[in-house]
Amino acid sequence: SEAMTTDWQSVIEEIAEEIKPLLDEGKVADYIPELGNVDKANFGMSISLIDGREFYCGQALKSFSIQSISKVFSLTKAFSFLKDDLWKRVGKEPSGNPFNSLIQLEHENGKPRNPFINAGAIVVADCVVSHTQDSLNEIIGYIRGLADNKNIQIDHAMFRSEKAFGHRNAALAHFMKSYGNIESDVDEVLDFYFGHCSLSMSCQDISRAFLFLANHGVHPRTNKRYLTASQAKRLNALLLTCGTYDAAGDFAFRVGMPGKSGVGGGIAAIIPGLLSVCVWSPGLDKHGNSLAGVKALELLTTKTGISIF
Ligand code: GLN
Repeated sequence: SEAMTTDWQSVIEEIAEEIKPLLDEGKVADYIPELGNVDKANFGMSISLIDGREFYCGQALKSFSIQSISKVFSLTKAFSFLKDDLWKRVGKEPSGNPFNSLIQLEHENGKPRNPFINAGAIVVADCVVSHTQDSLNEIIGYIRGLADNKNIQIDHAMFRSEKAFGHRNAALAHFMKSYGNIESDVDEVLDFYFGHCSLSMSCQDISRAFLFLANHGVHPRTNKRYLTASQAKRLNALLLTCGTYDAAGDFAFRVGMPGKSGVGGGIAAIIPGLLSVCVWSPGLDKHGNSLAGVKALELLTTKTGISIF
């Protein structure tokens, strides 16, 4: 159909040209110096198709801080361990609040609204910590396997800064611990959470790593199953409704793909049965999503006619 005849390389190059005026507009995350020092002029885009073809442009091979995109990998691991028992610990509703918000937690007895806001990702981190020996090294190995790249590393300066300035995340974790929704030692859970947020990956690594979500839970590059088809459907539903925080409605409206953003400026998204894509541009909008990145994905679905709708 359309996707078979699309000239993907021309499409992404056109997009890279069209988003140029936006590169100046966003605001780089500056809660830690390691993120604040990244040049806003960066833009990269990588597409991985289930049929094995790949296309990329711009800075698609340059590593950046994946931040909250990592929450998808820890959720995949926790979901495969706990199955639907996971939803006793964390909800599945959009929050309508910023990603680092504390306010709903008190009303909902320490159960976060969804696994992609920070509170939810910290509960997910706790689940992974409870089920693994060396959780951080295990998740790094898992992500290297998903991306087929042994060189993926933690940015240690980023990790130290996340810890040093992570008071809000520490507050979330301690608050949930007071309700009994964190099992392990809070510092151990936070180390794991800050650790996976501090991984550096390229757009190409991330688009490859997300392909299993476009293929009913099986990674087409390795034939390895990461989730059941039903779990992959559920994870994609959460990405659509919660993956871009309180802008998830606008993202679904404009882009029409399940996707996950991070404050490093990356956004990963998928079309089931077809492809995964990652864009990176560090300038953020007021919700903490890449400004040029959202526009690039909007242009991708508009130009090609693909979307989940
Ligand atoms: N490490 C960041 C934090 O915990 C991740 C947030 C994000 O990317 N939205 O605040």
